[in-house]
Amino acid sequence: MKAVVVHAAGDLRVDELPVPDPGAGQVRVRIVYGGICGSDLHYAHSGRNGVYEVVEPLTLGHEVVGVVDRAGPGVDVAAGMPVAIHPATPTPAVGAARGSGLNLAVGGTYLGSASTSPHTQGGFAEHLIVMEGQLRPLPAGLPLRRAVLAEPLAVAIHAVGLLGDRVQGARVLVSGAGPIGALAISALRAAGASHITAADLHRAPLRTALGVGADAVVQLGVDPALTDDSFDIVVEAAGAVPSLVTALRVVRRGGAILQLGILPPGDLSIPLASMVAKEVHLQGTQRFDSEIDEAIDVLAADEQIENVISHEFDIADAAEAFEHASDATRSAKVILGISPDPTA
Ligand SMILES: [Zn+2]
Repeated sequence: MKAVVVHAAGDLRVDELPVPDPGAGQVRVRIVYGGICGSDLHYAHSGRNGVYEVVEPLTLGHEVVGVVDRAGPGVDVAAGMPVAIHPATPTPAVGAARGSGLNLAVGGTYLGSASTSPHTQGGFAEHLIVMEGQLRPLPAGLPLRRAVLAEPLAVAIHAVGLLGDRVQGARVLVSGAGPIGALAISALRAAGASHITAADLHRAPLRTALGVGADAVVQLGVDPALTDDSFDIVVEAAGAVPSLVTALRVVRRGGAILQLGILPPGDLSIPLASMVAKEVHLQGTQRFDSEIDEAIDVLAADEQIENVISHEFDIADAAEAFEHASDATRSAKVILGISPDPTA
């Protein structure tokens, strides 16, 4: 089978690997689509993602959907069932309430991650073995191509959920309109935000933001500057210091900043005095817990979220796909077509 494997920094290959067989309690999934995430790009370009370093060949990919191919001993699931996959183990049960804290547990695994030794191999492969509990059956009428957004949308829903009642009726700025910013717009809308503005340096992401339901867009450095103290909530979705500095300026007194983007490691120069003076609530967020179930419901109900997908490449052209995904001026979410879609 084909798999997208990073061997070292700048060394991404489409390798031919043996098809794995499911063991007890496991299921083999025929992967149909995979979404390329920022962490996949970090691994491909620099051989590391934050503190995690690639020390052995690593199949990338944690945003994957497909159909059940074969159940292992002791597992009773029908071949052909379309599924999304919860990338984490331990995995919350289907339909579990939020707040188990599994996303913060130490020692778990995540698909396509060098955080464990040996690494946890990912899902950019024609076949993937997962535990039965990682399967998330898809409702009829939700195409696999849209369902591939379940994992990153779950990240956004989890993050927005951490703000609780603040979101209902709020005026929100999403700073950074890349794929995660765009999905945050959908999550904010689903959570009852009243007005959502998206800001970005580039024009293309702002078009995506409008395509998923932003009420207004601001091109930074081109349009008039954002007004001080004018948003109830700012979602920092760029993972960039200037964006966080802007967030601190434009959030209102008593408002909240959600740090959804992954900031660079190390010491950062950020004027935090205004956080104190304005009594700003600053919220961090990490992956998600059971919110992938909610994400699947939101995707089934909202066709326009699929506008986040800007490009689709065959797995054989993974190098080109990664190149596109690295260029925010011309792409939003880039997906790989890994196997033909038997449900289309
Ligand atoms: Zn991701």
